[in-house]
Amino acid sequence: MSIGDVVQTNYGTGPYRVIDIERDCTCPSYLDALDVGGDEAPRSAPHMHITCVESSTPVRKRYGERELRWLSRFVETGDGRIVNVWNDDELFFVTSHDAATMLTVSGKFYDVVACRGRLDREVCP
Ligand SMILES: [Zn+2]
Repeated sequence: MSIGDVVQTNYGTGPYRVIDIERDCTCPSYLDALDVGGDEAPRSAPHMHITCVESSTPVRKRYGERELRWLSRFVETGDGRIVNVWNDDELFFVTSHDAATMLTVSGKFYDVVACRGRLDREVCP
């Protein structure tokens, strides 16, 4: 999964455009944290916290707090699926990329399709 990907959920929300990914988090499940307290709860398997906006949201340099959507505790499986570590939630890539979709990194505009998969190395023009 990369910044700029467009995903939707198996529970009918989205499509969302990914604008940030936090990887390798091991925070406990929400319910466990409530039950036994954040410090005592068992850690989750390493997972991602994904920050998104609705894919229809115009691209801008800064998004308002109300525009942000979060997809938490997802992990990329070896076979290309993206599943939640605690439940049956799953994300699916939206394959029909909108060529006009642009994203911003460090205030610069990039074309999602042209830059796809290369943003982590910051080699995109
Ligand atoms: Zn976490």
